[in-house]
Amino acid sequence: MTDLVDSFSRHINYMRISVTDRCDLRCIYCTDRFDYKLNHDDILRYEEIQQIVQAAAGLGVKKARLTGGEALMRLHLSRLVEMLSQTEGIDEVSLTTNGTQLAQYAQELKMAGLSRVNISLDSLKPERFGRITGGGQLEDVLAGIEAAKEAGLNPVKLNMVVLRDENDDEVLDFARKTLTDGWHVRFIEYMPFANGNGKNSMVPIHDIMSSIERSLGKLEPHFPTSGNGPARYYKLPDAPGTLGFIGAVTECFCAECNRFRLTADGHLRPCLLDDDEIDLKGPLRCGANTAELERLIQEAAIRKQQQHHLGENRAPEKRQMWQIGG
Ligand code: SAM
Repeated sequence: MTDLVDSFSRHINYMRISVTDRCDLRCIYCTDRFDYKLNHDDILRYEEIQQIVQAAAGLGVKKARLTGGEALMRLHLSRLVEMLSQTEGIDEVSLTTNGTQLAQYAQELKMAGLSRVNISLDSLKPERFGRITGGGQLEDVLAGIEAAKEAGLNPVKLNMVVLRDENDDEVLDFARKTLTDGWHVRFIEYMPFANGNGKNSMVPIHDIMSSIERSLGKLEPHFPTSGNGPARYYKLPDAPGTLGFIGAVTECFCAECNRFRLTADGHLRPCLLDDDEIDLKGPLRCGANTAELERLIQEAAIRKQQQHHLGENRAPEKRQMWQIGG
């Protein structure tokens, strides 16, 4: 196995894989339109995803995370989980989900080899949750969280995108859940995309941390054994759960970026926040073998930009978040 290293000496060992652009929610900050849908033929088949992951694993990718749209909208997702978790070189397969269908699938996914799960949850108030998600039922997600824990998909991480004047008054409620329920909560800064949704909604991570410390006590740095992403982790005194902070906009963590993104229609995206993509589906369907896929993946590493340009108001334009997978 070789090592996949980009032009800035970053080692790429993690691939986020979007399996569909369909979603059963319509989160206000994620999209302003869901009219565009990929055709069945445009979407990578499970065997094709496996071929790409196999090639990436041969180059040093060790972790795969499934996302969407909503990954659980794709039929028989556990079959893909099984295929990827049995792929040589892949140590971990995880899932990012809105949790609405997790109560039904958590056990099956665990049995298929899923290691852990991140669940998006932006409000603990049923009515507000429904408004932010365009009609979602909070109780479904809470049931999904419990099912994930029972199935042993640990640690279950709960991701909250903090939006000014939408849900920022709930930051302390979420933080308290690390004390009372052992939740692992991560606060994420809203990232502006070209759709302009929630343009002025971003609450800086620094402000979120300060408000928690003012009300609930000093945050103690915590170094979890799982996860090597962009979050900085802390604990409140005596809390069984943890708090993670992802300053996607105000704290540039591009220097540590270790990931690629594969879109549902088979394009490899070196950076979430850059429109540059490399088509893998076309070559794959023309018969590209593993060596050819490896060459394209290596090219993507070379083309990975040094850092994002959100600070200069340059956001991706071609795809919105639901078309990439976060
Ligand atoms: N449906 C799944 C879910 O809800 O987690 C996976 C797809 S969703 C696009 C992945 C993550 O992106 C979610 O945690 C969501 O909250 C986050 N997200 C979407 N738009 C965002 C934005 N503009 N800024 C920050 N996070 C965003």
